[in-house]
Amino acid sequence: MTSPIPSVVEGTTLKEVAEFMRSHKTPVVLVQNKALDYIGVVTDADFTRKVAANEGSVYTAKVESIMSSPIKTIKGSTVMAEANKVMHQSRISHLAITEKGEFTGLLSVVNFFKYYENVEDYLSDLAINDGLTGIYNRRYFDEVLTTEWKRAKREKLPLSLVMLDIDYFKKYNDTYGHQAGDECLVKIAISIADTLQRPADMVARYGGEEFVVILPNAEQEDAAKFSEKIRANIENLNIEHKASNINRFVTASFGVASVVPNLNSSCEELLQNADKALYNAKHEGRNCVSVSQD
Ligand code: GH3
Ligand code: MG
Ligand code: MG
Repeated sequence: MTSPIPSVVEGTTLKEVAEFMRSHKTPVVLVQNKALDYIGVVTDADFTRKVAANEGSVYTAKVESIMSSPIKTIKGSTVMAEANKVMHQSRISHLAITEKGEFTGLLSVVNFFKYYENVEDYLSDLAINDGLTGIYNRRYFDEVLTTEWKRAKREKLPLSLVMLDIDYFKKYNDTYGHQAGDECLVKIAISIADTLQRPADMVARYGGEEFVVILPNAEQEDAAKFSEKIRANIENLNIEHKASNINRFVTASFGVASVVPNLNSSCEELLQNADKALYNAKHEGRNCVSVSQD
């Protein structure tokens, strides 16, 4: 994403704008009205083309006299096809992108495709939800885990982590097809999310057919009991799995780890312990909950 483009308010003189652009090393500025809505954009090309033709002096002529206007404001979450449509239908050449009232970028029809790439990158960086299942993604999980870790450490409270992995999911795909596999992932994600009880509990898709649950302020024993509940709810979805070696229906294996964070522990270690416990659950026959011994 391009860095946020600086803006000037309407009424600024061309001389001031030129100086502003030079000092900010920007070839483009946005123009805001008194209510701070974005109303136009001025590029260095506007200066070279329009200032020469402008009758007034650069000391008195206002920025409005050379700006490409109007521009429209769209939210950063707007899909690109929609943005393209807005540009087309309104026959305007610039769209200002805003998030929570803050200006975050500019789409210009001239370099639409370049911006398209940048904006897509930017938005995917911002995304906190997994594209398939709609639950939180791994990036956001990492963020929340760090936050919860710090909180637990500060408050000297336990933090529990549950890692779960669908059993024989490769065989599920091989038997029912990838599309059915995707649908199965969505059902399981929803089932886990529905099982969560407390506002601070969160589930994320950790990768492929693996999910992770953060249970702040939960002792290991409670986290294990809770995992058992999630496990049963998944089994009780009764999603047929003919090729599974252990059950008629789709099941998952669970690894649970807990810690009261201190100076000698890290959240990476907590993740590793949950992962090791999950590995043990797979070896203990799958469709079960294993608790970390560390
Ligand atoms: P185990 O019981 O040991 O966990 O066996 P498994 O087959 O579940 O594990 P393995 O790691 O061998 O295979 C995971 C499979 O998950 C393979 C991969 O194609 C599938 N998978 C991962 N992500 C997706 C996805 O987004 N959609 C679908 N349909 N399948 C996925
Ligand atoms: Mg796996
Ligand atoms: Mg698996």
